[in-house]
Amino acid sequence: MNENLTKELEIQTQNFTPLITEYCRFESVAAQKRMMPETANWVENLLKETGFETRQLEVAGSPNYVYGHIKGKSDFTLLLYNHYDVQPETPIELWNSSPFEVTERDGKLVARGICDNKAELISRICAIRAIQAAQGELPINIKWIIEGEEEIGSVHFDVMTRQYGDLLKADGTLWEGGGFNEKGQAALALGFRGMLYVEYSVETMKVDAHSGGAHALPSAAWRLVKALSSLKDENGRILIPGFYDDVREPTEMEKQASRDNVDLEQETRTKEMYGIDSFLHNRSGYDLELSVYEPTANIAGFLSGYTEPGVKTVLPAKAMAKMDFRLVPNQRPDDILEKLQAHLKAQGFDDVQVKKLGNGDPVVTPIEGPFVQRMIQICQAFTDQEPEVMPLVGGTLPLLGAMKNNVGVLGISTSGNPAYYGSGAHAPNEHIRVRDIPRAIQFNVFMFTELGTL
Ligand SMILES: [Zn+2]
Repeated sequence: MNENLTKELEIQTQNFTPLITEYCRFESVAAQKRMMPETANWVENLLKETGFETRQLEVAGSPNYVYGHIKGKSDFTLLLYNHYDVQPETPIELWNSSPFEVTERDGKLVARGICDNKAELISRICAIRAIQAAQGELPINIKWIIEGEEEIGSVHFDVMTRQYGDLLKADGTLWEGGGFNEKGQAALALGFRGMLYVEYSVETMKVDAHSGGAHALPSAAWRLVKALSSLKDENGRILIPGFYDDVREPTEMEKQASRDNVDLEQETRTKEMYGIDSFLHNRSGYDLELSVYEPTANIAGFLSGYTEPGVKTVLPAKAMAKMDFRLVPNQRPDDILEKLQAHLKAQGFDDVQVKKLGNGDPVVTPIEGPFVQRMIQICQAFTDQEPEVMPLVGGTLPLLGAMKNNVGVLGISTSGNPAYYGSGAHAPNEHIRVRDIPRAIQFNVFMFTELGTL
């Protein structure tokens, strides 16, 4: 790295904290539609001040998307994605400082939304500004899409990509990313599981009854418990007929990546974090890594009857549960919903209503593709060690299906966000470590520069 760039990097690293402080003051809680236009305007202005041509993309019922485009030296166009919305700050009493005021404590910057995902946007901005100050033009073209609904499931992303898909075409795409892992490796996530989120409800009577009548009156709680237990066996196998029809085997390269990612120390840390002695079905090592290729049925919540302290002898008329199915390639959420409904009917649970609350396709960028291979090289060159490649991550990015289906663009996630495994996304006292900031900015500078040498 030349002297000029090193100097500009230092300057931009100094600028990081004031910028992130300003950004985090916007209480951009999507679930409560707080300060969304103000935040979008601030982000648009930040891009504009960085030399981007900008506009806000309007979609009915959605906070505006911020879009920016800047030309660079080479023909390569990189699409960046970030989101300006954050999770609600509740429970507020668990915060040690005001959630929307960046507070430095023990080498950490604490604020709602800082790791998820405001700090990544600022480190990308700082990297771009450092290159511009040192070299003038950027090495590549950059397009940037920043949404305000990620934390509520990117509900309008599909519509947005149908309306504005042409703006988003690119040679490579980077979704929001994480930091470097504890071994200092860069991390690449190539795919995410899909999801079907449903709400079940049962109503067996018009009103709750005295439980003295339990010998004669139907319990909604028991109905729902029975219906749910028909979905899964003791070994975790999901019993819906046809559920596994479209599941594809992991490829040889994916299996190899799972083998490379075995980390027994990390397993111990995770078990300690949750206070458990073993993982489900005693899984460990390669077996545990590979199990991400299995779909799941998770009860996210269950509500029925009397749940407050003490005794109330009631027979509940209503019961409700929420469930997320994490889906793997090539399962499709609507197909699974149909199969779920058919299963409940066949088992005699006609009275159990199923309502879809959300969905997302599983999307995987092939490991052997040119952009992925180039990014692996870049990560290796930057860290001097092989990156951690995760072909499939357990969670879901609902926007990926929309990008794949409507724009024809896949993408990956990588390091470059000054976050770490303990950042506490969505939790009270969400934070980043101050010491991770310079490296995140340096990585982005290095990556933008290297992509320009293709
Ligand atoms: Zn989040």
